Amino acid sequence: MEFQPKASHFINGEYVEDTSGKPIDVVYPATGEVIARLHSATPAIVNQALNAAKTAQSAWAALSGTERGRILRRAADIMRERNRELSIIETYDTGKPLQETLVADATSGADALEYFGGLAASLTGEHIPLGGGDFVYTVREALGVCVGIGAWNYPTQIACWKGAPALACGNTMVFKPSETTPLSALQVAEILVEAGAPKGVYNVVQGYGDVGASLVTDPRVAKVSLTGSVPTGRKVYAAAADGMKHVTMELGGKSPMIVFDDADIENAVSGAILGNFYSSGQVCSNGTRVFVQKGIKEAFLNRLSERLATAKIGDPLDEDTNFGPMVSENQMNIVLRYIENGKEEGARLIHGGERIDGDGFYLQPTVFADVTDGMTIAREEIFGPVMSVLDFDTEDEVMARANDTEFGLAAGVFTNDLTRAHRIVAGFEAGTCYINSYNLAPVEAPFGGSKMSGVGRENSKLAINHFSEMKTVYVSMNDVEAPF
Ligand code: NDP
Repeated sequence: MEFQPKASHFINGEYVEDTSGKPIDVVYPATGEVIARLHSATPAIVNQALNAAKTAQSAWAALSGTERGRILRRAADIMRERNRELSIIETYDTGKPLQETLVADATSGADALEYFGGLAASLTGEHIPLGGGDFVYTVREALGVCVGIGAWNYPTQIACWKGAPALACGNTMVFKPSETTPLSALQVAEILVEAGAPKGVYNVVQGYGDVGASLVTDPRVAKVSLTGSVPTGRKVYAAAADGMKHVTMELGGKSPMIVFDDADIENAVSGAILGNFYSSGQVCSNGTRVFVQKGIKEAFLNRLSERLATAKIGDPLDEDTNFGPMVSENQMNIVLRYIENGKEEGARLIHGGERIDGDGFYLQPTVFADVTDGMTIAREEIFGPVMSVLDFDTEDEVMARANDTEFGLAAGVFTNDLTRAHRIVAGFEAGTCYINSYNLAPVEAPFGGSKMSGVGRENSKLAINHFSEMKTVYVSMNDVEAPF
């Protein structure tokens, strides 16, 4: 198996290679095979990409919103036409089952391109009347060159969630994928050019954290949007602050999902499965602390075990497979260590808990019951298929425990009591909340975290505010009054 892109980087409308950069081997997680070799960007490549983005920006911003939007919407159409091909590449990159990538990756990227393409023509300022005929008008302006830095779990989606609003507002972008999943963003760049994006509007450079750091500190860059872990977020936010750059931080979580004893058990189990095992658990907003009210605890666990036994674990390219490998050997080993922590700290293992034999990076979907708040598996983000089930008695108790975390990305509640559902959601310290569902992230809705889970929001009309700024113009219709 091999999937070698034409070159490592995409700059100024074309593929660019510089083999003097540190090698990046692309490993197919299902087999451990190296399927491509790319190279990390050298300082010369980073410079070339930033120059291309800087040079292209003013002409791109000078197009009408309708013209920019048309290009984004055309790119969305191309992505949808090539969904299968793009989904296979996403599966090579991440190991996620094709059954998932066909519906959740290029399609989600296309949604963002279409949504922000549609908004581009309606981005305006306002007119503010003042006394005596004076008035102010505001002009919504692009920020300039934006840097996008991605995590490895949703490489196509992240490349589009950042690129689409940035470009809609008249910015240009240099995007750096995670070195674990460098393939998909190149496809996005190629498609944008095919859709009519001028050269230099959307560039991709590969690299490790040092390349990301050099992008973040460059004075040509006006804004940084990162999807990654909290420790990386801290570093990137601090580096961006030094240059007074705008930021969006989409970081990690340890989100609670609360199941009351009046909940529909089947739906609650479905929510817990979606919120812990989709993408083999490698989803930032996962509800990994599942608080189940004592009255239904055993019924919930029994049904969960029955449903887990039907998971189809195997070749991600087989469309029947619905649970694939971890993205990398490294991530698999991190998760295995957490599973050992859970066992050592006395949680009750009720499902999985082992690596699956073979060359691929497969873990069993794993559930621990009788987890308590202080255990490592209940406090730290694992980013793998490990669910912790915790018991609770009362609403007040579970509310306090759910919020007792430094993270605040997402939170969910399953109950048939409508008033209680809204009361609980009002109390959640989290950016994205769910009532009787979990982990849906439509482009129309703001997505992002509170507390240590992030700053700013992606998607929805709110993303426009994070990729543009207002210029205020005061217009006097009167003589100027001066004190002397
Ligand atoms: P990392 O934080 O390790 O890396 C994120 C990106 O930042 C990578 O491209 C990485 O490059 C780059 N990077 C690392 N160090 C620096 C630096 N000093 N300056 C600039 N860039 C840097 O995250 P992972 O890739 O391991 O992804 C998993 C994390 O992402 C989880 O914590 C998860 O919760 C979070 N996440 C959040 C989402 C959200 O929307 N809130 C969605 C998806 C994931 P390299 O990989 O080469 O080191």
